[in-house]
Amino acid sequence: MASESESNTSSLRSSKISQDNSAKKLNRRSWNYFSVKCKNGCSYYGNPSWDGYCSQCYKIQKAKSLPDTKYPITNKKDESNHINNSIKAETIPNKNRSFSLINKLEKASGLSLDGKRSMTTSKAVKKNTPEHNNSVATEAIAASRRLQEFLRSNICDSSVFTEKLLERFEGLRDTSLMMDKIEKFLTVSLYKYLYNQKDSEDQIKNDLIKERIESFQWITLRHLELEVTLDNVEVATLLSKAIQEISRMHSSLAPEDKLSCNTKCCRTVISMLQVCSATSVNADVFLPALIYVLIKANPINLQSDIQYIMRFTNALRLNSGEAGYYFTNLCCAVAFIDNLQADQLSMTTEEFERYMIGIGSDDEDVTSPEVERIKNDVGIMTDLIERQKSLRKEYLKLEKQLLLFQSNTLKKVKKLPRDYKT
Ligand SMILES: [Zn+2]
Repeated sequence: MASESESNTSSLRSSKISQDNSAKKLNRRSWNYFSVKCKNGCSYYGNPSWDGYCSQCYKIQKAKSLPDTKYPITNKKDESNHINNSIKAETIPNKNRSFSLINKLEKASGLSLDGKRSMTTSKAVKKNTPEHNNSVATEAIAASRRLQEFLRSNICDSSVFTEKLLERFEGLRDTSLMMDKIEKFLTVSLYKYLYNQKDSEDQIKNDLIKERIESFQWITLRHLELEVTLDNVEVATLLSKAIQEISRMHSSLAPEDKLSCNTKCCRTVISMLQVCSATSVNADVFLPALIYVLIKANPINLQSDIQYIMRFTNALRLNSGEAGYYFTNLCCAVAFIDNLQADQLSMTTEEFERYMIGIGSDDEDVTSPEVERIKNDVGIMTDLIERQKSLRKEYLKLEKQLLLFQSNTLKKVKKLPRDYKT
């Protein structure tokens, strides 16, 4: 899948590079502002939440400003290693990943799969973290047990075999697949602890973004300089599908599945743009189209979903590959909406303010897919009501005929003995 998806986006990504040069000419200052690449010059994707760096360079920058704290990469050697590795990862995204399965698991869950070692690890967790993390650790132990149960019941009855198999994971050539499965298992098992804590900063930001997107519902395709014709049924259907895909993100549990919703949404956006454009789709229209989809979808818990993905998915998945590219674009779209001002829509401040208080008018969205869908549904309902009416008419007619047939038959039966006598 990775190689196919790589080729799907490679043209789009290369056109992003060409767009960076031609953006001034096209007067798309706002799109030019966002670069999908890490601003440190490594070949990974950057992210507005990481100040435009990739996860690795962000850690390096943080380490420079906050020595001896939670970001351990501090020296020049680590930095140059990362740049070199990122170049390798760009060309061979899914190979040569040096995961230590047990270490990663211990990091993610605060315990180890090995009973003896988990004792010392859980002590460390209790000593170093706030109280609520103890319940996370308990839940993680339960998740670990369920994982071992699963392996035992699905692979072999012998626990010795399972233990050996777990030890062997480290030596497997493609440990990334196994890591993906375990990441999914742990994040789904611990979802209620990891995702969207009540009264958290994310929760507050969720409401702010939702409210802000709601206030931008007046934004049309024209404002985003998009030549998308919603009169075309295929285009309207694809737009509607993209909205559905991104709206589905909050109901997925694993970070990988949430990412996948975004990837599907972005692929649909590209398909939609391909229908509209005779020439190839470039990043110059992709980002505004994604912004439009995001505004129309206004997904719930958007900030929580983005942060959850950034915190708990394998960093390589965000730094490179198709899903990483689309995720960076999603974050750029959110950052754009978050900082949206009049000049980014080529408007005067007065005009912008008028729209914000609901005085501005634009009839374009009358043909939005939602309105079209409702119109279509009303049409189907009217048709169904008509058909039901005519069916009832037929039914009453048939009932009348049956009653007539019944009474005629009864009459004939009553007459029969008399006829028989004569
Ligand atoms: Zn970087």
